[in-house]
Amino acid sequence: MANTYIYDFSEGNASMRSILGGKGANLAEMMRLGFPVPDGFTVTTQACVEAMNNDGKWPEKLNEQVDAALARLEERTGHKLGSSDSPLLVSIRSGAVVSMPGMMDTILNLGITDDTVRTIAEESGNERFAYDCYRRFIQMYGDVVEGVPAHMYEDAIKEMKKARGVTLDTDLTAEDLKELVVQFKKISKDYLGNVWTLDPREQLSHAISAVFRSWNNPRADIYRKVNGISRDLGTAVNIMQMVFGNHGDTSATGVCFTRNPSTGEKGLFGEFLINAQGEDVVAGIRTPQRLPDLEAILPEAYRELLETMQHLETHYRDMQDLEFTIENGKLFMLQTRNGKRTAPAALKIAADMVEEGLITKEEALERIEPAQLDQLLHPGVDPSNTVEPITKGLPASPGAAVGSLVFDADTAAAAGAEGKNVVLVRYETTPDDIHGVLAAQGVLTAHGGMTSHAAVVARGFGKPCVSGATAIKLDTQGKTLTIGDRTFVEGDLITLNGSTGEVFGEALKLIPPQINEDFEHVVQWADEVRALGVRANADNGPDAENARKLGAEGIGLCRTEHMFMAADRLPAVREMILAETSEEREAALAKILPMQQADFEAIFTAMKGLPVTVRLLDPPLHEFLPNYVDQALKVQELELTGGSEDALKEARATLAQVKKLHEQNPMLGTRGCRLAMLHPEIPAMQTRAIIRAALAVLERVGQTVGVEIMIPLVSLEEEILQQREIVKSTVEEEFERAGKRLDYTIGTMIELPRAALLADRIAHHADFFSFGTNDLTQTTLGISRDDAENGFLAAYEAEDILPHNPFASIDVDGVGQLVSMGVERGRSTTPHLKCGVCGEHGGDPASIEFFHSAGLNYVSCSPFRVPIARFAAAKAALKDK
Ligand code: PEP
Ligand code: MG
Repeated sequence: MANTYIYDFSEGNASMRSILGGKGANLAEMMRLGFPVPDGFTVTTQACVEAMNNDGKWPEKLNEQVDAALARLEERTGHKLGSSDSPLLVSIRSGAVVSMPGMMDTILNLGITDDTVRTIAEESGNERFAYDCYRRFIQMYGDVVEGVPAHMYEDAIKEMKKARGVTLDTDLTAEDLKELVVQFKKISKDYLGNVWTLDPREQLSHAISAVFRSWNNPRADIYRKVNGISRDLGTAVNIMQMVFGNHGDTSATGVCFTRNPSTGEKGLFGEFLINAQGEDVVAGIRTPQRLPDLEAILPEAYRELLETMQHLETHYRDMQDLEFTIENGKLFMLQTRNGKRTAPAALKIAADMVEEGLITKEEALERIEPAQLDQLLHPGVDPSNTVEPITKGLPASPGAAVGSLVFDADTAAAAGAEGKNVVLVRYETTPDDIHGVLAAQGVLTAHGGMTSHAAVVARGFGKPCVSGATAIKLDTQGKTLTIGDRTFVEGDLITLNGSTGEVFGEALKLIPPQINEDFEHVVQWADEVRALGVRANADNGPDAENARKLGAEGIGLCRTEHMFMAADRLPAVREMILAETSEEREAALAKILPMQQADFEAIFTAMKGLPVTVRLLDPPLHEFLPNYVDQALKVQELELTGGSEDALKEARATLAQVKKLHEQNPMLGTRGCRLAMLHPEIPAMQTRAIIRAALAVLERVGQTVGVEIMIPLVSLEEEILQQREIVKSTVEEEFERAGKRLDYTIGTMIELPRAALLADRIAHHADFFSFGTNDLTQTTLGISRDDAENGFLAAYEAEDILPHNPFASIDVDGVGQLVSMGVERGRSTTPHLKCGVCGEHGGDPASIEFFHSAGLNYVSCSPFRVPIARFAAAKAALKDK
């Protein structure tokens, strides 16, 4: 059978979207359901694809099929294209498979000519209307099909209104419009140097081709890129008998939504214009009236419209966005589609529809996107903002922040203590900056990626952060920030949007986070569906408390080195690291033990019986040591200024130690369990602090958490074997000392490729695995997690060499294989081995989908991402079904 490129509206239905486009399929569906739809037919997406693949040349048979469809339409309507007795006018509209509002072209009133315009004037008894249609046609056809600049026609209308002393198009008379038609024809002819075809049938073919072409216009191209729509889909073209909203005062045209697309509220939401055609409403030339006002003007059409809205929403089981026209009091539906909506509206509509019994909870979950939930969890930039950003970095921690610029952590902390709003800008942050990060509204760094120190810490605190804004030039001494030719000084106001990475050179208006009942409902439904557990990464009491409130089912990673970073602890920690003898080290550790114990008690108390994975110290040494160059300068300064002998001696001793411990590659140096292998008294002290804290909490509140002790950065079986022994024997000592016991487990991080490869051997000594995908990504791809994004990685992403940043969303093909292998091999030795993930990927929806399929038991992410993770885990489970 020959290809079918055309379907009459009466032949289609909603399921034929892929060939009829969204608009065509829904028009057919509305006709099938008996709603008043003007008659017509749809040219398929297939026809468009074939034409595009052949330099715009139509597929064989398409012309013939247009002739036949047109003849059928003429037969049904009793009107004929180009006939001066009973002319048929049609509209030609695009309609892609995925709706792309306003991206492609439309032509109205095709079929109007010097002859037919007279008949239309006579038949309608409304000459003004007839010439209004004619001038609109010339304008649209000239613009869309022949490429005459639209402003040339608009200028002529403006001139005419000025000459007549009127402000509205509707104030122009029939005579004015006749005159405009003459002028429009001249504009077209002068611009093109000839007259376009006057035959409406030929015009119809040109118009269809123009809509095909508009699929590839630049704005449609950009829209598709942003929304991930394939270029290969093509658009359908709908040819529909014209109905006229500009027929006089009992005619109108409008758009409406079955619920409010900004808030989701039920109720009437829409606008209309009396005596107008479609484009007038969108063009904003006249101010439309609110939909409820239609009741007083055209009560019957209004009532029918309300019923239709109700029916269509129930039929499609989703909020509808409709276009309608009323011609001489009679209602026609021109379009229905699922309406676009804001994040709060998406949640409200889904929650209300579940309550109304219109959709199931699962369907509600499927309709909401993780990014929409995310928007609601943080203060955001007001959506009506029109200010352009001064630069863009990485969206490292979501939410928006406004504050005065400060260039160092101490100033940030001092300003914060006075209740001032500041944004801390640094080349990159270090543990020394924590107090500044905490005090600031947000953090901006010129260096560093999605898993840089600033990014991880900011996410943990729920602070907006833009990292890796490489266009920034910083002078931290002079306290200036320069971008291009603009320089900002301390105290200047800026705004960060950590959700997009944008930086603005002034204070923008923000909107507050919008966690409400609808939000709570949605995440509760997610809990009923998901298979993955959701834990949080937290290393202090308040964060743990917050995580539990946001629905975390435990702590998946307590980074104990973060506990060492507080300003009052760092000296003792440095003492411990720099100690030359065991005694010195023990003395330093004795100072730290009670502090650690107090931290653990706070976390265990906050978690109220839920499991807590405490990771033993994983210190990239350089994070705790004085900077080598700074220390050398200090010695030099003391030498030059003749500082005291003692000070000089101490500074030189420190410099010597720093030099001794200096590593060229600290991320691959004495990290993780390697330091513990060299100095077993460190894991022993930490184990004591953990067990003492757990016993103390048990004593105090009669309930303690599930204690899980985790050994970091293991790659050799011997490492876990020895470390496990140290932990176990210390635990036993503590039990003996206290005369009490409690349950605990010992596990390891899998964050080096060798550990994943030998997971079966490592699992002999582990009760659980937690995949550290930050380091696993770093070591599998051989890309430094701290500085790669600033260099080639950004270029790789821009050029699609890498589809996305592998530190933000897991590299399923590579790193993912190691995760799957680790789970599989680990469980081959220990069948019920509990497996989780605690890298930053644990809060990323796309990665969560993968972790679900890899059979992990839980994901762990920063507290503020817990609701997103719960929700994403449910979507993964639904997809799996
Ligand atoms: C990891 O490497 O994924 C991890 C969670 O550990 P950290 O980020 O502390 O190195
Ligand atoms: Mg790690």
